[in-house]
Amino acid sequence: MADPTQLVYFFGDGRADGSTEMKNSLGGKGANLAEMTRIGVQVPAGFTIPTEVCNYFSDNDGTYPEGLKEQVAAALEQVEDVMGARLGSETNPLLVSCRSGARESMPGMMDTVLNIGLNEHSVQALAEHSGNAQFAWDSYRRFIQMFGDVVLEVRAGDDEHEDPFERLLEAKKKAAGVKYDSDLSAEDLQELVSEFKAEVKQRTGQDFPDEPIDQIWAAIGAVFGSWNNDRAAVYRRDYGIPHSWGTACNVQAMVYGNLGDDCATGVGLTRDCSMGAPGFNGDYLINAQGEDVVAGIRTPKRIEASLKDEMPEVYEQLETIGKTLENHYQEVQDIEFTVQKGRVWLLQTRNAKRTGFAAVRIAVDLVHEGLITPEQALEKRRIPADDLNQLLQMVFDPEKKALAETEGRLLTKGINAGPGAASGHICLTAAEAERLHNIDAETPLILVRRETSPEDLRGMRAAQGILTAFGGASSHAALVSRQMGKTCIVGANELNVDYIAGTVTVGDIVLNVGDPISIDGFTGEVFTGMVDTTESEIVNVLIKKTVEPGDSEAYQRYAQLMEWVDQFRTLGVRTNADLPEQAVQAIAFGAEGIGLCRTEHMFLEHLEEIREMILARDPETRLEAINRLLPFQQEEFTGLFRTMQGRPVTIRLLDPPLHEFLSERHLQEQPELAGTLAAQLGISIEEVRARTAELHEENPMLGHRGCRLGIVYPEITAMQARAIMQAAVAVQAEGIEVQPEVMVPLVAFQTEIDNQADIVRETADAVFAETGTTIAYQIGTMIEVPRAALRSDEIAETAEFFSFGTNDLTQTCLGMSRDDYGGFIGHYRENDIVPFDPFQSIDQGGVGRLIELGVAGGRSTRSDLKIGICGEHGGDPASVMFCHRAGLNYVSCSPYRVPIARLAAAQEALADQ
Ligand code: ADP
Ligand code: MG
Ligand code: MG
Repeated sequence: MADPTQLVYFFGDGRADGSTEMKNSLGGKGANLAEMTRIGVQVPAGFTIPTEVCNYFSDNDGTYPEGLKEQVAAALEQVEDVMGARLGSETNPLLVSCRSGARESMPGMMDTVLNIGLNEHSVQALAEHSGNAQFAWDSYRRFIQMFGDVVLEVRAGDDEHEDPFERLLEAKKKAAGVKYDSDLSAEDLQELVSEFKAEVKQRTGQDFPDEPIDQIWAAIGAVFGSWNNDRAAVYRRDYGIPHSWGTACNVQAMVYGNLGDDCATGVGLTRDCSMGAPGFNGDYLINAQGEDVVAGIRTPKRIEASLKDEMPEVYEQLETIGKTLENHYQEVQDIEFTVQKGRVWLLQTRNAKRTGFAAVRIAVDLVHEGLITPEQALEKRRIPADDLNQLLQMVFDPEKKALAETEGRLLTKGINAGPGAASGHICLTAAEAERLHNIDAETPLILVRRETSPEDLRGMRAAQGILTAFGGASSHAALVSRQMGKTCIVGANELNVDYIAGTVTVGDIVLNVGDPISIDGFTGEVFTGMVDTTESEIVNVLIKKTVEPGDSEAYQRYAQLMEWVDQFRTLGVRTNADLPEQAVQAIAFGAEGIGLCRTEHMFLEHLEEIREMILARDPETRLEAINRLLPFQQEEFTGLFRTMQGRPVTIRLLDPPLHEFLSERHLQEQPELAGTLAAQLGISIEEVRARTAELHEENPMLGHRGCRLGIVYPEITAMQARAIMQAAVAVQAEGIEVQPEVMVPLVAFQTEIDNQADIVRETADAVFAETGTTIAYQIGTMIEVPRAALRSDEIAETAEFFSFGTNDLTQTCLGMSRDDYGGFIGHYRENDIVPFDPFQSIDQGGVGRLIELGVAGGRSTRSDLKIGICGEHGGDPASVMFCHRAGLNYVSCSPYRVPIARLAAAQEALADQ
């Protein structure tokens, strides 16, 4: 806050105390209301109480800082002056809303109360002043309903199915014989108000408050209090929003969308945010108030489809406002508006949430339209790197989909709100989805609901896809799925969802809970049964080569974006790949080398030889056994070197403990195995069992593995080194450049890397002598135990490169086993003991410190030491950005994460400038 004594920020009539820059204090909503006011967009007057006051309120038992009362009173007077109406006036009463709004939007997580200021007197005045008694009483009943829920907490108890106010409203509509709320007469509504008040009195023991200023203060308290409600806290944890931010509170003069048929309320996007196509679009409802659109009570109409005909002047105003806002913010806007008697008032604007598809298209289009530069297009808030993932995900196999159609399995259509293709079992409640997901995360679920609400967040997360019967492209379900990157269809009106019977019906087709259903989030089509999926358009161009680049606009935009990415990033991106096919994919995605080739998978394919080696009584037999693996290993490295065409290939020497190849479990699962092995090797079954028992380890993660294997069994290292060098020589002879990097795992002592390096060098020299060629290669080490990071200066005397194995480094730094942390990590997350899962994103404060030490130590010995990371973290955007800052040369990740890592690297490089 600029001035700590300023507790209230006014906006209205072209003047505002705040601006977009003050988002941290005023929240996104407040800051943008101020900004819109400044740039001449029509906004009802109001004021914002900053987030600092919310924090004060939370820390001081719901009290307010000194001076707030007076400043609020003064600001209210200003609002009254601008709007020409007075609070509680008996001729022209001012009504206000009290709206929450945090620094980052948290859709529907916190509270808002509309129509504050009504009582038995002002409602009469409002009726007379507007000449519309029905409107006045409808506003009053809405006010009691919202205030009752949010402030007085009059809600359905655990034993009730229905909200008490909704129950009375439904009964009233039934009695009056009408379908919609808006068809109730002034008299009906007046009765309803009395019934609502009686309900409040009965449930709270208190009269509904009549004094407007008391109503305002109670609503302010509820808005600040809602920062700490459960669902808001869960949301913050999921999206990494600090609990310490607090929400602002906006008190704003009401404008009315429910004054008649020349009034409306709506939400809109300045471009489509599902696929990114240009053009204003959104939802509106005639003669309705704001919350009606998002609540999914009536299915709204589409702005782009019918507003132009129904309200041509309104449509024009909206288009102009949309352009003004896009030009000003240089970004697609998501707006909330109300039309009062043909005039558009803006109630909110914010940068629109969008799918990965839309993000890429919009960013590239905005550059081409000259609104932003390529650097801006890459900003992390425009394209969160993780969202690129969506472009590479599966879609329905067109043939299978056509088949489903001919089979008559097309059930219905809705609005395509979240692109993607999802098949799964029907689930009707979020709680059930969450429960099933916790039992078995593999079974795909589709959450089918009439509409979703903020309580459903966790269940939505657990489901593969979301399908709703009501609500439009801006409903809660649509908004949240877009953000989660989930496949989603909303407003499939033909669906009849019966929660009690557990059925989903369309016409005479009845589906039950658990039945399979498929949703196409690109088209809005819903199918019964499962539909097979296939690769996305971009994968088809890049990997399958079934689509020509020139035939795919989506690909061309992706390619344009990635060209900019590579222009700005300085961090290299390699891939973790064991097989040539994986390497081919990774190169298509832009990988510049292999950062980790694990060699053990090949051992698993040749269990016979490795088991013989394990059971060998003497070094000679062992050597013989291990050397039988040489040709297989060599062939594989040959394939990799050929594929990589001179790009570096880091090959890790054998890492896992030997019991992965022979253990009690193997002997139990294959009763004949011990006998067969004994016969092959000419030893007794007892000996086989005894040797197997010896291999058992209590803590295999900390056991006889990594370089400890190669040190005890040097012939393994020698064989692998020979396979690598012979493969390299052979491929080089084909005229293809090779760049082998031999990586020694789990080193803690310099003596360990010395030991292994000697073996590798001796073997290499032998191969070079035999073949009369030489190959330039490097020997390096993984840094994956704390001691290696601490003594990195010594280790770098031998190691020619480092690669941080952050999976093991996290395990050994935190003393937390990835195989066993499942028992408590959930509890840790929910109680904010850790801000995120350290195996998904680098624990920068701990593991990150070790990395920094390792980098500094290593480069103190070898200033040009090449350093990378090859754990799972290499594809996590936050971790990639950390690696950039830590001065690493490259990250290495799985092929499909390569584009994400490239973008994250560019984003951090740009943030650095
Ligand atoms: P949320 O953050 O959940 O979207 P808002 O504070 O934006 O909550 O309020 C929800 C809706 O209520 C708005 O989109 C708008 O339509 C309506 N609303 C809020 N304040 C006013 C107002 N002063 N006049 C008219 N409608 C309002
Ligand atoms: Mg809003
Ligand atoms: Mg490791």
